[in-house]
Amino acid sequence: MFAFKALYFGIFVSLHYGVNVVLSTGPLSQFRVIRITPSDSSDVETLLALTKNANFDVWKWPSAGSPNMDVMLSREERRTFLPVLQTNGLQFHVMIKDVQRLIDVQRSSALKSRSRGVGEFEYFKYHTLDEIFAWMENITSVYKDRASLFNVTTSYEGRPLMGLKISNPSVGPADRPAFWIEGGIHAREWISPATVVFMAGQMLDLYKLDPELTAAVDKFDWYILPVTNPDGYSFTWKDDKSRLWRKTRSPQGKCIGVDPNRNWDLEWCKSGASKDPCSDTYCGPEAFSEPEVKGVSDFLQGLPNLKAFIDVHSYSQLWMSPWGYTKKLPENYKLQDGGSAVATDALEKMYGTKYEHGSIAGILYEASGSSADWVYGKLKVPFSYAVELRDTGKYGFLLPEDQILPTGHETLEAVRALVMYIYENIQYYNDL
Ligand SMILES: [Zn+2]
Repeated sequence: MFAFKALYFGIFVSLHYGVNVVLSTGPLSQFRVIRITPSDSSDVETLLALTKNANFDVWKWPSAGSPNMDVMLSREERRTFLPVLQTNGLQFHVMIKDVQRLIDVQRSSALKSRSRGVGEFEYFKYHTLDEIFAWMENITSVYKDRASLFNVTTSYEGRPLMGLKISNPSVGPADRPAFWIEGGIHAREWISPATVVFMAGQMLDLYKLDPELTAAVDKFDWYILPVTNPDGYSFTWKDDKSRLWRKTRSPQGKCIGVDPNRNWDLEWCKSGASKDPCSDTYCGPEAFSEPEVKGVSDFLQGLPNLKAFIDVHSYSQLWMSPWGYTKKLPENYKLQDGGSAVATDALEKMYGTKYEHGSIAGILYEASGSSADWVYGKLKVPFSYAVELRDTGKYGFLLPEDQILPTGHETLEAVRALVMYIYENIQYYNDL
């Protein structure tokens, strides 16, 4: 067992640091995503034991709702690891045959988009951080009366965490509730910023044209942060080798980065997070070690009437509420999960995309130190969600651009239904 783990570590080092990897058509051309499909809970336990210290890239861990595990493996890793799975009676099949090809598709269309300039923002494309910032500056100058920029904080590498506030101060009471939506806390989940940007754009472009969106804008102050981890996001645009980066970019001894969704100060690093700085779920040297996470938490604490929070991820199609750190359910679970049910029903009506809903630990796995837990547990925000967007693994993090708009439209339907649900429930509690 020890030799097995040591071998993986050697492979990991050579892959992630680019040593001895010379491939003709791109660094990930020999990589496949393999789906392992445990048939019962003892299979899941075996699988978790086999992969506990493996250093290949896990795209999806087994969860309560879906025991499958997706792992990205080089040819060498497949030769070593797949026989181990077979020996242990674990079934598997290829989900993505050529990771590099999907990266090439995303990158070539993204490059075409950039060569055409950003005057007319193309919501159906993936965009760099600079392009997203340019869009934010542009759209807030067009809709000056109800949109403005805010700067949450500065990242480790010095980039702004720039957000978009949408609010119509001329309508409604001065103490309107605040609604926070953030994307891109995990760098490689590109569909997240793309969807958050799309939804903010629709809320501004369709104001006065779409009665429900108009009501949503009038009833809440919206704080929208498309890219919560700008260093990580920029890094995923650097080259193909960096495309699947997840964490922040702060140096952590021999490795880089902290998982910014395991770094929040509630039951920090107790479960579902790693103390190994090289792990993709590294919780950091201490809670709030990452300036991005600390900055967002400070900013949220300064929003006096924050009632709703959504942290947008991909992939798996899940709409989740606290707790993440334990399978126990919080006091107002039924109220929060009722919102998830309303949201996912509305989402499914659009194109038939099916989501599951429940608590984070209940349908995913125990994961402490997440933003949704902290916002609910520490700030007492009654509606706190973590959402995993499309898909269920056919493309995973490399979702093609032709799915951006459908994902945007259906997610906006979900948010639109959720807004009304939350507003009615806030009214109810205010009236008590
Ligand atoms: Zn994520």
